[in-house]
Amino acid sequence: MSANRSFRNVTRIGPVQVGTAYDSRGREKHTAACTAPRCGFSADYDSRAAAELAARTHRCPVR
Ligand SMILES: [Zn+2]
Repeated sequence: MSANRSFRNVTRIGPVQVGTAYDSRGREKHTAACTAPRCGFSADYDSRAAAELAARTHRCPVR
């Protein structure tokens, strides 16, 4: 399912996990990914604040 990137600073906000990792170009990326089954939400952001905001405001389309 998920790519095996090594995330650092992983935190969980509700069902969403936010982690920081380096992409293939060595740049820092901040990923927010929902852990709820069948949701599948996942997105990359340029800043940690943006990723955490997305995690905080995320609403699962399924319940
Ligand atoms: Zn979700």
